[in-house]
Amino acid sequence: MNKYPLHHFLNTRFGFFSLLLVTFSVKYVLVVYLDFNLGISDPWQHIIMWTSPIGTAMLLIGLGLYLPKPILSYIAMLILDFVNTVLLFTNVIYYRQFSDFLTIKTMANVGKVSQGLGKSTVALLKPTDIIFVIDFIIITLLLIIGKLKIDEATVGLARPTAVSSLAIFSIALNLTLAETSRPRLLRNTFDRSYVVKYTGIDTFTVYDALKSLQSGQVTKNASDSDLTNIINYLNHNRVAASPKYFGKERNKNVIIIHLESFQQFLLNLKVNGKPVTPFLNQLAQGNHTLAFSNFYHQVGLGRTSDAENMLESGTYGIPDGSLFTSLGSSNTFQAAPAILRASGYTSAVFHGNVGTFWNRNDVYKNMGYNYFFDQNYWSNGRHDSIGYGLKDKLLFAESIKYLEQLQQPFYVKYITVTNHIPFDMDNSDLDPNFKTTDTSDKTINNYFQTAHYLDQALREFFAYLAKSGLLKTSLIVIYGDHYGLSNSEYQTLAPIINESADTWNNYNNVQMQRVPFLIYGSQLSGHTESQVGGEIDVLPTLLHLLGVDTKPYLQFGRDLLAPQREHWVVFRNGTIVSQKYIIIGNKGIKGTVYKRDDGRQILNFTPAERRDISQLAQKASAALKYSDLLNNKNLLRYYVPTGFTPVNPMQFDYLTNYQQMIALRQKLGSASTSIYSEHGASTTGLYQSDAPELVNRKDLLQNIPAAVRENESAKKAKSTTQQSH
Ligand code: MN
Repeated sequence: MNKYPLHHFLNTRFGFFSLLLVTFSVKYVLVVYLDFNLGISDPWQHIIMWTSPIGTAMLLIGLGLYLPKPILSYIAMLILDFVNTVLLFTNVIYYRQFSDFLTIKTMANVGKVSQGLGKSTVALLKPTDIIFVIDFIIITLLLIIGKLKIDEATVGLARPTAVSSLAIFSIALNLTLAETSRPRLLRNTFDRSYVVKYTGIDTFTVYDALKSLQSGQVTKNASDSDLTNIINYLNHNRVAASPKYFGKERNKNVIIIHLESFQQFLLNLKVNGKPVTPFLNQLAQGNHTLAFSNFYHQVGLGRTSDAENMLESGTYGIPDGSLFTSLGSSNTFQAAPAILRASGYTSAVFHGNVGTFWNRNDVYKNMGYNYFFDQNYWSNGRHDSIGYGLKDKLLFAESIKYLEQLQQPFYVKYITVTNHIPFDMDNSDLDPNFKTTDTSDKTINNYFQTAHYLDQALREFFAYLAKSGLLKTSLIVIYGDHYGLSNSEYQTLAPIINESADTWNNYNNVQMQRVPFLIYGSQLSGHTESQVGGEIDVLPTLLHLLGVDTKPYLQFGRDLLAPQREHWVVFRNGTIVSQKYIIIGNKGIKGTVYKRDDGRQILNFTPAERRDISQLAQKASAALKYSDLLNNKNLLRYYVPTGFTPVNPMQFDYLTNYQQMIALRQKLGSASTSIYSEHGASTTGLYQSDAPELVNRKDLLQNIPAAVRENESAKKAKSTTQQSH
């Protein structure tokens, strides 16, 4: 009964259009569930995803409605639907290989890799890919046998315009819904998969095109004089390395440990009579540890990624987002992994979240990282992850099977995640001997638990380093990336850290931006340094300890151990901290200024104070200005430091890290310098962890996940196609 009106409708031009729209949307939703791993969690996100393809498909296929001649209109709609399907299909194929979406930049570079991709595409096909063409086959057949008829009626302009308007309304509605579920999604993207999840492939592609157009405009306006000004500025502000420390830890392995959301106040703090971070407390006071007690984070909107950028590239983050996501795919970097390559270093990152987060999979290649071990490389049992990825104890424990295969000396970075807001933990991972606070603020109570957990994870990792001999041959850098608790929580926190909630002010807020910074090295004699410093200063400090001259490089930090260094830092929001002052915002004496030692606000400035403060303000704003100029205009592409080999990001393939390491070890034979080769066997047996997830699953420490092993075939396919070039 119902069939007749539907059939009648389908035999109109708008019926045919609706049929294409529905089949495309269904196809899209099926593909998302079958192929993409978008982390869609709550029902609301599912609904947004289901509706995300409708607006853009309506707009695109609806263009065909404008053609007056019916047969042409039908053909145009089919072609537009097909084009949209091709875009979806190429993204699926690309995603199967790279766990990422196609950007305009990748498409532009496709010529360089297309020959290689051509053959392996066949290997990447799945039976379910019939979805992509089945609708076209059925619709064409129905047209041929006459079950679907071409409507010869003319439609005019009014109705197609109405369809386009409805489409634009749907797109706007989708963007609004996306914004409610994920505020600042498009302004501050940290992961391409989030944009796809909320807005669909079409909107993502247009968004990405606009973004690359915009950054192309800025970089086109770059000039030689910009670069000259920056070089002059940096030459003028450079300080000579300390002769006492330069080269003190030459040729050591470097292990950077990124403590997520970890604040300085956690060190030496007791809660219910028990230290929150007993291991770090002991390490900070150890015989071979340089500890810094006034080390400030300097991140902006890019948070974790800003910290990473400062530490590895020696430039500040950008003022209006994350450098990693905004510029990281296209900019030229002269970062630690590539700098150290000249001294024979191999580099790697261990991180328990997806590789696309903060655009890391692109940025790390541009930074010259040999290997990036992302979520694919870890266990994925139901209780292995929480919050932002693999639990920290598992990250360290499971990393050994990869770490031991790296050729030495290596430069590696561990990015922990468990101590990330909202600081959730499974009950089974709680330490029964540590009882956290009982404040009204759950975030605070949770924070001490996850910080304590991270501290335990570090203890286990250090025990392995000692047993394997790595502790003697490595320089270990530990730092907190930024605050975990925020300004709104400090009133509640104040009594716990022996401060008063009543007198809490901006001075205290600034002092809470201190994070731990520890350097452990067997040649260092342990003590605490109290000079003011920040994340921007880590790279030159580290390179000088390794005996690497930083003069050829355009880095904005100053070696913390350099005797002539003026001790001040600038935050991304313009706030300055010097030995004497805390200057809020970038307003100099017109803003609020405190004395750093006692927190008293300066109300009447002496002439000397006026001069000091205005000089600091000038220096701080110049630092940010020149760093922004360098990054926003991508000026490093015109600058090749002496002794530096520019990075070719195309040489890295993070899907076959393990296979590459093993192949290299076999090729090098007795010349292999990996821990595995030195020991003549795996050292994973030396690792001891009390993580409940590892009970009865000790094989996780030795065995490579199936997803990594299966990549062997992908690698073989790749190497055969490469030979055919
Ligand atoms: Mn972070």
